[in-house]
Amino acid sequence: AKGEGKGRCQLFHQQMDIDYHYRQRLKADLREALAAGALSLVFQPLLDISSHRVVSCEALARWTHPELGPIPPATFIPLAEEMGIISEITAFVVRSAVAECSQWAGEIGVAVNVSGRDFRGLDLPGLVDEALAESGLSAPRLELEVTETAVIEETDLAQSVLESLSARGISIALDDFGTGYSSLSYLSALPFNKLKIDRSFVQDIAEDERALSLLANVARLGRDLDLTVVAEGVETEDQLRAMLEHTGIQQVQGYFFSRPLPARDIAELISHLNG
Ligand code: C2E
Ligand code: CA
Ligand code: CA
Ligand code: CA
Repeated sequence: AKGEGKGRCQLFHQQMDIDYHYRQRLKADLREALAAGALSLVFQPLLDISSHRVVSCEALARWTHPELGPIPPATFIPLAEEMGIISEITAFVVRSAVAECSQWAGEIGVAVNVSGRDFRGLDLPGLVDEALAESGLSAPRLELEVTETAVIEETDLAQSVLESLSARGISIALDDFGTGYSSLSYLSALPFNKLKIDRSFVQDIAEDERALSLLANVARLGRDLDLTVVAEGVETEDQLRAMLEHTGIQQVQGYFFSRPLPARDIAELISHLNG
């Protein structure tokens, strides 16, 4: 048994070595991809729950590795944070998303994900001013999504940066709501316009009454604070119906309506749904 334990231990260390080398390789290649302009964006629509019109689109970063294929953002965004290059990615995403949005018909907005590191590592108000001026997009059409974790990492800085963005008319969304820390004090302290309820609250609502009741109560909390309430990860018509009948949720996002799409396809989807 002792020998077996040792064998397992060796296997464990081999696996750690593989992980370590894999991550080192990804890091080097990510730096290169960013410099070469090889990152791209896809967009996923947020729709009004009753009219099914597209209200805005969320920009999501994509990286297709030349040999390893698509690397999910859940892998490369944390790597970029570790490497200290997340701000360069955020700057790329803000500039491209704003430029793309200025091409869309109607008053459709665009949402960009911001990392907690960006509060310190980036002049967000400066970047936003520049991108809006270059594209001619009006401030209310840009929305920044921040997670509870990002805000908690940098409480004081987050407050002053978000207030300065909010003063410009930029919309601020609290992302993945319900998955982070449950201290709600900052919900009213920070200038949020929107609450995005994490998809884990949506998953079971068609089968499980208690899950539906929980979602309805989280939505009510948002409505009581005068926030626009969005449900993420809507995958089925039954989920949509339950939400429409039993919660005050105003906007929905998820595979039921559309997967994230490249820019050229999203413009077409918008004119199809809203036209
Ligand atoms: P997020 O901000 O919560 O983005 C929503 C994620 O849920 C996206 O995954 C989207 O493709 C996925 N999703 C949308 N609808 C559904 C659905 O109906 N079912 C399921 N199962 N999933 C759905 P994605 O694109 O893989 O992004 C994962 C996370 O990576 C994002 O979560 C965000 O935290 C981060 N991320 C992506 N792009 C960026 C970026 O440009 N900057 C930063 N800082 N983070 C990013
Ligand atoms: Ca998001
Ligand atoms: Ca989210
Ligand atoms: Ca999420």
